[in-house]
Amino acid sequence: MRFYSTKGQARPVSFQEAVFKGLPEDNGLYMPEKIPALPSSFFEDIKSKSLAEIGFEVMQLFVEDEIPGETLKNIINETLNFDIPLKQVQGDVFSLELFHGPTFAFKDVGARFLARCLSYFSRKSKQKLTVLVATSGDTGSAVAQGFYGVPNIEVVILYPSGKISRFQEQQMTTLGQNITALEVDGVFDDCQRMVKQAFLDEELNEHSNLTSANSINIARMLPQSIYYFYGWAQIPKEKRKNLVFSVPSGNYGNLTAGLIAQKMGLPVHHFLACSNANDTVPNYLETGDYIPKPSISTISNAMDVGDPSNFTRMLDLYSNSHSNMKEHISGFTFSDEETRNTIRQVYENTGYVMDPHGAIGWLGLQKYLESHTTNGIFLETAHPYKFKVTVEGEIERSLKPVLEFDQKKKQSISFENNFDALKKYLISR
Ligand SMILES: *Cc1c(COP(=O)(O)O)cnc(C)c1O
Repeated sequence: MRFYSTKGQARPVSFQEAVFKGLPEDNGLYMPEKIPALPSSFFEDIKSKSLAEIGFEVMQLFVEDEIPGETLKNIINETLNFDIPLKQVQGDVFSLELFHGPTFAFKDVGARFLARCLSYFSRKSKQKLTVLVATSGDTGSAVAQGFYGVPNIEVVILYPSGKISRFQEQQMTTLGQNITALEVDGVFDDCQRMVKQAFLDEELNEHSNLTSANSINIARMLPQSIYYFYGWAQIPKEKRKNLVFSVPSGNYGNLTAGLIAQKMGLPVHHFLACSNANDTVPNYLETGDYIPKPSISTISNAMDVGDPSNFTRMLDLYSNSHSNMKEHISGFTFSDEETRNTIRQVYENTGYVMDPHGAIGWLGLQKYLESHTTNGIFLETAHPYKFKVTVEGEIERSLKPVLEFDQKKKQSISFENNFDALKKYLISR
């Protein structure tokens, strides 16, 4: 399979090249040249398949022979070494819990798959890779956990000292092995600037093979389709008619993966694009005008995105047609107050504890069900414990801790806020 750029100015590339490059040179995003269809037999016995089996059948259609079948199976098995259970919260409402991975958020799926693809391709070409990332928190922990112990890859993470949560710091700094955390005496923008400069430095790039593990990499987005199939597989047969998926969204990678699953044949009736106050996409669905805005801070902060990068992939899937997109997706937007109230009410009424992101997915689904009689699945994208303070404030009880690395020792290198120091460090490794 070839992958083209949504901007159409760059040449189509193989899966391997798309994974290594991340972004095409025309600054578009890579998309698969066609969306492969799954045979109807795939759906007939889907209930008897494991998450990894579903994952393999889905991903093989994109990867084809660029990774041998047995290797791809191993990659999928390692990526999905945690379950993604579907829980019935109420008669017609189900929660697909995507947070049982190592960083307790759905981004583990994409980060772990990308890490293993990069490792396979770099082993094949006998090149060692250094993944270099700057983080203000969440990206760094997902990347660190995703690449941890993966052969042929070194990870160097820059984070601003004292500016990230203890939880995030622990997830990046207690691993060791191939993960090195540089604790920079500066703010996130300083880390970001040093990393950008590193990618532009010729001498450094000749010496080390640097890559960015960017969140818009095709190998991070595509595997997210897998759990839409797995969620559908778990819902009772009689509840599948006119099934809708409600997706709390920020950069819209998760939703895009669902749209692709539908195009591959998954019988989804409709998608709900649910946002917090960052309502650029719901506004577009309403008006047909795409007006990016600066991001607004909310309690569902992983979705604070005013100009979502995957919107161009969504447009591409619907041939840039607003009316086409509207047939498949409805947009909803909710305030922090509505989010908080929902966390409390759902807990009081059902005993189910949601994080602020999942709560927005729940809210969108409820809005939709007011005028449609059907069943829906909302994606619960993070473990409530990750947003402990907000959640405990609403449910008025303590959450059980989920982390075991409280006891592990922090290992970070204190680092000056200076590019030359970073360059020297990377060359000397
Ligand atoms: C990243 C993230 C989202 C948003 O996902 P997108 O694919 O960017 O739309 C939602 N919830 C959580 C917890 C996240 O970390």
